[in-house]
Amino acid sequence: MNIIKDAKRIVVKIGSSTLTHENYRMNLRRIEAIARVLSDFRNAGKEMVFVSSGAISAGVAKLGLERRPKATEEKQAVAAVGQSELMKIYEHFFGMFGQNVAQILLTRDIMENPVARKNAENTFATLLRMGCIPIVNENDSVSFDEIEFGDNDTLSAYVSVLCHADALIILSDIDGLYDSDPHKNSDAKLISTVAKVDDTILGYAGGAGSNRGTGGLITKLHAAEIVTGNGIPMFIVNGQNPEILYDLFEGKHVGTYFMSN
Ligand code: GLU
Repeated sequence: MNIIKDAKRIVVKIGSSTLTHENYRMNLRRIEAIARVLSDFRNAGKEMVFVSSGAISAGVAKLGLERRPKATEEKQAVAAVGQSELMKIYEHFFGMFGQNVAQILLTRDIMENPVARKNAENTFATLLRMGCIPIVNENDSVSFDEIEFGDNDTLSAYVSVLCHADALIILSDIDGLYDSDPHKNSDAKLISTVAKVDDTILGYAGGAGSNRGTGGLITKLHAAEIVTGNGIPMFIVNGQNPEILYDLFEGKHVGTYFMSN
């Protein structure tokens, strides 16, 4: 069995640190590559949903700020600027490869309200039926503690469930899950398959991620718990070269594979 080759509907998530340079500006080479590969998967007959961070980073760059703001209202304003910038760039690159994209911004309360949830589910299903690639982010400009996903790993897990996806692929800035921090320990081993996210696995996660995103490994493991518990397998692979998605397609064992339960 080849999970990605056989999957009809795939959610791909990419984080801010993979999409942007250290100065917060967009990494156009990488964005071009991800748009090309996702478009190619679409051309091959797959339904693709893309969960993209980067709104705050794009806003920081566009407004010429030195760093990501800390105050909530500033973050929300910067995200509003950055989200439209992000979609402009995606329109451009996905358009170049002949695809129609659609923006969906979600907050967590949608998952808890059956009517809102059903509506979101229908919108995804309809967009996919129309051949579009939905591009999803948290609605950062209006979300606050009680209604936020908080990070896009968690968001991508819920989106996978909402879309009834066959697989979730998280493109990260690391090769996968290691048994200890590979930046600190040269003997750290990549875990290639996780049958169940248990306490030992959670113990491998360490702390938060980069200063451009909000995730880290722990949020990815929580995402894995959500999707695998809903029968959806998940992969964490290094997004530095988005062509790694072709390796998964060809059944090569790259990154960390989380088996569905
Ligand atoms: N939604 C945030 C953004 O677009 C990113 C959240 C995350 O990095 O997990 O900037």
